[in-house]
This record gives sequence, structure tokens and C-alpha cells, in this order.
Amino acid sequence: MFILFGHSKSQIHFKKITEDIECPVCKSHNTLFVYSYGRYFHVFYIPFFPLNKFNQIQCSHCKYTCNENELPYSLQNAVYRSNLLNPPKRPIWHGIGGLLSVGFIVFLFAITIIGAVIGIRQEPKPDDSRKELLKIDIEKTTENPEYETDSVSFFLKSCVHESVSGMKTEKIRYYTRYNGDKILVLLKVSDMKKVEKSTRKELVYAVENCLDFIVPEDTERFIGVDGNWNMLMVKTPTASELKGDFADEELLLPFYDITQP
Ligand SMILES: [Zn+2]
Repeated sequence: MFILFGHSKSQIHFKKITEDIECPVCKSHNTLFVYSYGRYFHVFYIPFFPLNKFNQIQCSHCKYTCNENELPYSLQNAVYRSNLLNPPKRPIWHGIGGLLSVGFIVFLFAITIIGAVIGIRQEPKPDDSRKELLKIDIEKTTENPEYETDSVSFFLKSCVHESVSGMKTEKIRYYTRYNGDKILVLLKVSDMKKVEKSTRKELVYAVENCLDFIVPEDTERFIGVDGNWNMLMVKTPTASELKGDFADEELLLPFYDITQP
């Protein structure tokens, strides 16, 4: 790729030498001015970083001009002292390209780090495929389970309806499935808000009682009652969260673990 680069200069300061010094050419007094320049490196004419500074002297009377280092030693000293009093300062734009590049690199670095941190946070845990399975199963809940495809739900629908009052049980959606000798029973209740928290757990008890009729006693039961936004109640062989407003759905995940024969 063709890259145009090089160095350029601009005047950064201009002042009169205040000491009473005569021009080496026309011998006028108080006519010498110092012009300070800054060189900078540019890429495609964009200043990238500053290079050296240098001074030129000009006599306002005879227009004699020369570089500082061509002056007699005494004059060089006068320029030096003049610069000490009022030092030429380089403008920030002499390094703007470099500053922007560094800023851009820092920015890229920062978003890479942030991206990596977010990536690590979002990286699914090895067992997260079970969460996905649970999500899919919750979506499979239906108000009208069919005997042919989900006989347990079909039975639960009517059994729970018989045993629970104070709740629109006909609106409850069901889905059940087996995994070895484990059974997962998912209920989805969209109007749980209208039910007193203290009586919500009756729904889980009713499911358990109804299951007693149709599944063997040693079947491990994983029951989850899902609400509009989150799991409301969970009961598994090892845990139960039946407060009725929030339950840890991860408690259901062991259902999906492969059962050793
Ligand atoms: Zn002069």
C-alpha cells in the first residue's frame, strides 16, 4: 500500500528579543525577532508525532534572516535567554495522529477486554444445555394435553381440576415427560397473581397426590410450576421451593441428567 509520509514544520511561536542587541547586518537595535518552529512527522499529511524545534532570527529592519545556530555566540545566548523567559510551546495537533492512534488502540484493547469478560460470563456452563431443554419443555405445556401423546398430563388436568379450588385450573397448561425412572411435570399458570401465596403450594400437593394414582411410588418426581415470568414453585426429590412467587428452576435440571442403567 502506498503510504505518503514525511516531516513538515509550522511556526509555533514569535517574539521580539527584549535584550538590546544589534542586528549583525544593519546594526539596528531592538529589531531582532525570534520565530520558533516545530517539526512533526506526518502520515498522509496528518501530523503524527512531534520532532525537533528550532528557531530562526529575523531583523524587522533589514529583513536579514538566519538560523539560530548561524548567529554569533552572544546572539545565540540572547535567544536562549529569551526562550527561557517565554518558551515556545508546541500545539497539541503536532501529535494528534499519534494521540488518536494510541487512543484507538486503548479503545480496541478495552473493548476486547470487556468483550472477553462478557463472553466469559455468557459462556454457557457445560450443563446449560439442560436449561435449554427445560425451556423447550416449558414451551410444550398445553391447556389441552392429549391422552395419546401425554397421558400423564391428560390425567393430571382432570385430577387437579377436581382437587384444587380457588384457581382457574382449566387454564393451567401441562407437560410431562419421563427420563428413566424420573418424571418431569411442568405446569404453566398465567393468572397465579390472583391466588393467595399461601394457597399456591396446594397446587403442587394436588399434582403429587394425583401422580400417586398413575406413576410408581419409586419414580423420582420433578415438579415445576411456571408463571408468566419465572418459575414459581419447584419440588424435586431433594428440594422444594413452594413460597409461590419465585423458585430456582435449576433445581429441575437434574431431571435431564443421564440415568445410569
Ligand atoms: Zn538588520
